[in-house]
Amino acid sequence: MRYVLYVLLGIAAVFVLLLIIAVIRAIIIKVKLPEKAVAVTYTPDEEKLYAEKLSAMVKEPTVSAQPDETDLERFEKLHEVMREKFPLIFKTLEVTDIDCNLILRWKGADSSKQPILFMGHQDVVPAPDDGTWKYPPFSGLIADGRIHGRGALDCKCTVFSEWQAVEELIAEGFTPPRDIYLTCSVNEENSGGGAEKIVNWFKEKGIRLAFAMDEGGAIVSGMIPGISTNVVAAGVVEKGSAHIKFTAKGKGGHSSTPVPGNPIARLSAFVCEIEKKNPFKKQFVPIVDDMFAHLAPYLTFPLRLLLGNLWLFKPLVGWVMPKFSPMANAFLRTTIVFTMSGGSEAANVIPAEAYVVANIRPSIQQNLDSCLAVLKKIAAKYDLEAEVIKGTSASGITDSHGEEFKFIEECMHACFPGFCFTPYYMAGGTDCRKYEPITDNCIRLCPIRVEPDQMNAMHAANESINTDALAETVKCYKYIMKNHK
Ligand SMILES: [Zn+2]
Repeated sequence: MRYVLYVLLGIAAVFVLLLIIAVIRAIIIKVKLPEKAVAVTYTPDEEKLYAEKLSAMVKEPTVSAQPDETDLERFEKLHEVMREKFPLIFKTLEVTDIDCNLILRWKGADSSKQPILFMGHQDVVPAPDDGTWKYPPFSGLIADGRIHGRGALDCKCTVFSEWQAVEELIAEGFTPPRDIYLTCSVNEENSGGGAEKIVNWFKEKGIRLAFAMDEGGAIVSGMIPGISTNVVAAGVVEKGSAHIKFTAKGKGGHSSTPVPGNPIARLSAFVCEIEKKNPFKKQFVPIVDDMFAHLAPYLTFPLRLLLGNLWLFKPLVGWVMPKFSPMANAFLRTTIVFTMSGGSEAANVIPAEAYVVANIRPSIQQNLDSCLAVLKKIAAKYDLEAEVIKGTSASGITDSHGEEFKFIEECMHACFPGFCFTPYYMAGGTDCRKYEPITDNCIRLCPIRVEPDQMNAMHAANESINTDALAETVKCYKYIMKNHK
């Protein structure tokens, strides 16, 4: 009896000791927030000029061309605007135009070094002027300290800022130490083949890149609970995405004489089972550990204690966080959600066939095939067929401890001191993953401050970006281009 008591006391003592260590660590890891940025100063005239230039680009309604569409007139019109707004670029850089997908090469002092590349897309998602927009979607209106319109954020601000940085550096007489490329595709939003055409051009020339920097992450505030400062999130990996159709077949017939085994009932039972318990296991992958380690010093105390001490609290964090945050849940596992369904055409007809469609986002640790195997096993219980309509596994992972990523991290601390910087596990997709064959470093970050309402307006009504944020972004790209050796 006494022996048991000693063991219990021993366990309690170890636990208290670990807790004390965790608390001390949580106190130590808090960062001191430094003062103002010096690398991103700009004048009111520059802010005004940038807003006007981006506004002109937003006014061109470059709504995504369909993959098989050949009419690229609206992109040619955007090119006209860009030729007018960036005269030095078109005078200095070598321009390659493949079906309006652009590749611009700025020759550096030493072209034998691997070039660096800044990219984006010219197309935007549709924006019907249906009364939900405060200002017409393609007005490019500058008001309330913002540039308004479809594409202002996704992602003409990225393309504009990258190009404006080059334009200014040319005017200053700067020669980059190595080649710098600017690229932008015309059909990122509908996963058309623009980025592939660009990448093939590099492949044919045997060019490998030190890094490719694309849209994806941004500078956000108020998005992560327990963190009051801005967070610069640089995407290093994208989850996969797949649409899977589950079909139930039956005999059909008249609703007056139903028989058991109705396709809709079987599909419903299947959906309920998955909704009740996500069949994909939770797992901390190294990128998530890394992300929490970067965020921890900036968090308020209870969260800092937990996320700053994953060595102790990982099981607790893995259990609690997904309950409070859908985003945290998405970091830890493959997600699945049912999005479409269909059955019989009439209310008094039993369907001979019914279906549901789910969108799944395969995580890094599970490719699409193994996700499908998990789902097929459950579907079989209800006699359902499963087929992938369209889908991909997760992208590769950029090394967040590698030289190029560390360089971007240093640039962000220089341009935005006091902001938290973190590698980021993206649930959405970009063109950047297509560049994996030509670079080890796909970095998905447009260093632009985005307000929570602006984040929510992506692909929705009232898209906008702040004029002062835009000016910082231009200067930040300049800093990156000037300081990469
Ligand atoms: Zn985009």
